Parts: sequence; C-alpha cells; structure tokens
Amino acid sequence: MGRYSAETDPSALTGASVLITGAGSGIGAAAARLFARAGASVAVTDRDGDAAEQVAAEILHSGGTARAWMLDVADRTAICRVVEEVAMAFGGLDCVVNNAGYGPWAPILSEDFEEKWAAALDVMLSAVPRMVRAALPHLRRSPHPRIVNIASTEAFLATAQLSPYAAAKTGLVGLTRSLAVELGKEGITVNAIAPGPVETALTARIPAEDRETYARRRTALRRYARPEEIAHAILFLCQPGASYVTGAVLPVDGGLLIRNV
Ligand code: NAP
Repeated sequence: MGRYSAETDPSALTGASVLITGAGSGIGAAAARLFARAGASVAVTDRDGDAAEQVAAEILHSGGTARAWMLDVADRTAICRVVEEVAMAFGGLDCVVNNAGYGPWAPILSEDFEEKWAAALDVMLSAVPRMVRAALPHLRRSPHPRIVNIASTEAFLATAQLSPYAAAKTGLVGLTRSLAVELGKEGITVNAIAPGPVETALTARIPAEDRETYARRRTALRRYARPEEIAHAILFLCQPGASYVTGAVLPVDGGLLIRNV
C-alpha cells in the first residue's frame, strides 16, 4: 500500500487503518482517539453499537477519521464481515487491537461457573485467533502490519474468584508469543500489553477507597492508570518504528509487577 513509511517518519500513522475491538469505552476508546490524532483511520468497534457511534462521532467532530461498527467478538461471522467492511472503507487494514474484555466474578463453586468460564474464554481468548484469521489477508498487504493484544497483569499475579479472566489473559500471552513466531517471517509483529489497574468501567464497581488503598500498597506509582496511558503503549507498538518488537508482553502497570514492598 505504501500509505505511510518508516523512512519519512518512524512514528507516523498517517493513513494507516486500525481496527480496535471494545472501543466504545475505556482503554479501547482512548486508543481510538489517540490513533485518530496520529492520523490513522479508526474502525471503532464494540458490542455496544451506540457507544461505538459516540466515540466515532467525537473523533469526526475533532477532525479525525473514524467509523463505528457494532461488533460482538463472540460472533465469528460478524468478525469476518466487519473486517471486510473496514478494509473496504479504509482501503486496507494495517493494525488490529484486540481489546474487548470484561471481568466476570466467578467463584469456583458458583452455579454458573461453567457458563462464565466458557464466555470469558470465548470473548477474551478464542476471539483473538478468529480476528487474526479474518484480518491476515489484509495485514499481509500492509507496509507495517501490527497485532496488539490487551492482556493483563492478571496473567502474572492472580486475584481470587477471577479464574476465567486469569486463564483467558494467561492464554492470550501464550497465543501472542506463538503467533509472533509464526507470523514473524512475514514481518507481522504480534505483541501484548499487560495493563495494571486502570480507571475504566471495568474497575469502577470497586469502591474508590479500595482502589486507592490497592494502588498505594501495590504499584510503584501509587495510583491507577488513566486509559490514555495504556493507549500510548498500544500506539507505540503500532508505529512503523516499532518494527523489531515482537512477541513482547509489555507491562503498563505503574510498577505493579516489579514492586516487592
Ligand atoms: P471497559 O471500559 O469496560 O471497556 C471494555 C469494552 O469492551 C466495553 O465497551 C465492553 O462493552 C466491550 N466488550 C465486552 N465484551 C465484548 C464483546 N464480546 N465484544 C465486543 N466488545 C465487548 O474496560 P477496559 O478496562 O477499557 O478494558 C479493556 C481491556 O483492558 C480488557 O481486555 C480488559 O481485560 C483489559 N484490562 C483492563 C484493566 C483495568 O484495570 N481496567 C486492567 C488490565 C487489563 P460493554 O460495556 O458492553 O461490556
């Protein structure tokens, strides 16, 4: 395609086409806004079509390029259709950000554990290879093809009663590494980000006081992240200049994983 180039500007994403899942809220929405500011055309997808529309409208209003798609990543047929529509609308697809997720509370003996387990693994793990398989023919035509998966520090440090989430995010790390090796010979980079605690709808149900205590006790920076701080790391991994970073799992966690006491 040659629409943007590492030679002219290794950080430029002007004209790149980016598809983000779960972009109606939180980290995905912040990433959508940031990619648009960097000059990319952004496919804002979410299972909540209205939320996606709202983010896309905001981007258009501030002079960026975006379009909304309602997309539940549990729906394999919809993934294939939306990927084709995005590539058609934006003249290709360069970057895929697999971000959609949620935090199901699932004590091991709860009655609906098996349903919660299956749904969490479906949305936060199985959906990713589904998306990659659909996007691959388009990524292969990109000058800087990128896949970024949003994992979690829960892949390394576990919280009780979140086992489906921890299992999905740990699986996502393994999937990221294996795909990085498999697709590396084609120049397609595959990386994951492991956010620590972020102020989004996902963590909003935790009482503010508990969030503050946790951040103070556990992170080096003593605070939650803003979604934009995760978005910046996603943007970096998609820039042409990040061409030699692959199979990495980048903690963006305020020092949660390195703090001892
Ligand atoms: P968020 O504000 O709730 O955003 C997640 C978005 O994903 C929501 O719009 C949600 O829609 C959407 N979504 C959920 N299931 C979906 C599906 N099946 N298909 C399509 N979209 C779906 O939460 P967030 O914190 O930004 O989460 C983004 C990612 O970061 C997730 O993968 C999460 O696991 C990860 N993460 C978050 C934190 C944190 O502390 N916030 C930490 C580590 C990792 P609904 O609103 O309809 O559910």
